[in-house]
Amino acid sequence: MGQESSVISDDTPTETLRERSLAAVAEYITSGKAKRIVVMTGAGISTAAGIPDFRSPETGLYANLAKLNLPRPESVFDLLFFKENPKPFYVLAKDLYPGNFHPTISHVFISLLAKKGLLHQLYTQNIDCLERAAGIPPELIVEAHGSFANQRCIECKTPFPADRMREHVARAEVPRCIRGAECGGLVKPDIVFFHEALPMLFYERKDLISSADLALVMGTSLQVHPFASLPNYVPEGVPRVLFNLERVGGLGTQADDVLELGDCDTGVRKLADQLGWREELEKEWRDLIGEEEALKQLTGAWKRAEELQDEVEKLADEVEEVLKMDSPVPRTPEEPAESEERVKERDDTKAEPGTGTKKVEEMPTGSSEEIPKQNGVALSDKTLPLL
Ligand SMILES: [Zn+2]
Repeated sequence: MGQESSVISDDTPTETLRERSLAAVAEYITSGKAKRIVVMTGAGISTAAGIPDFRSPETGLYANLAKLNLPRPESVFDLLFFKENPKPFYVLAKDLYPGNFHPTISHVFISLLAKKGLLHQLYTQNIDCLERAAGIPPELIVEAHGSFANQRCIECKTPFPADRMREHVARAEVPRCIRGAECGGLVKPDIVFFHEALPMLFYERKDLISSADLALVMGTSLQVHPFASLPNYVPEGVPRVLFNLERVGGLGTQADDVLELGDCDTGVRKLADQLGWREELEKEWRDLIGEEEALKQLTGAWKRAEELQDEVEKLADEVEEVLKMDSPVPRTPEEPAESEERVKERDDTKAEPGTGTKKVEEMPTGSSEEIPKQNGVALSDKTLPLL
């Protein structure tokens, strides 16, 4: 996705780290050279918490929204649409409201950085308030797309009481301005909707990145501006580490960029291992969310890993099939699924090495490019800056 810049070659020397690896990042931190760590996060750090992915057709959330006849799923976060019809947002808010979800190991890792006095600033695109729930001091958090923490009238800006908001959300009822008939405006949490500006805090604090000595980018596809440009403010020679399913946003193009591609929580655990913090981290996390929730999150992670493995195997099978084809006509997406005999035949005989590179390039995009779209986690904040 938008990878116009190429990854730095292995023989390019590093400037700051011993090498481009998590082990070297850990050495850099434990040696005391990283005292001002900035962290940038997106939906990927909340995946294990079970925050529903808006765009995934499998989730009940999507089905609920479909029933509401929205022009597009994203309309639920569109200010113009909200003014006309606020009900869909409140149906969704009931599902997403803080308290329904618990921090992941990634959230607690950032909290641990704060406890050790190493967190310079956290910039999050998430509205789920799980950073606060993980115990990260609010003054170190920039909720770039707002959050459910506060709410106010969209007309006169009068704040609305939190306890009354909770009651409204629980019943999926639309709250109105506490000034009553005098105003009558709709009340909305301080979540940044489409057609709204980002909080001033985002602009006030983004300069802190230029004084950072390490940047961790976690679980974000960096598709939504202006948030997506934050890693560009990291000065040359300051290491940047990406924990994400795929390479994004020009990460991997600088001498001290470290790419940890895969599930965010898994990458964070690896870094914690290298730092010698793993035991402390796991304990903090389990103490915070309880054994039952910890097990739930871990089970979810295994399930997602299996699904990912299935996708990889499916893609590998398709590539292998194309490699084996004698006909110059590439397989089309309309072609019926392969027969059992064909599967057996394929499994019995391996393709000869080095015979099909050109044919792979000719493979129709229909069969391979659909795969990433099925992965809602990676794409969810492409059009929706909020979840
Ligand atoms: Zn009002």
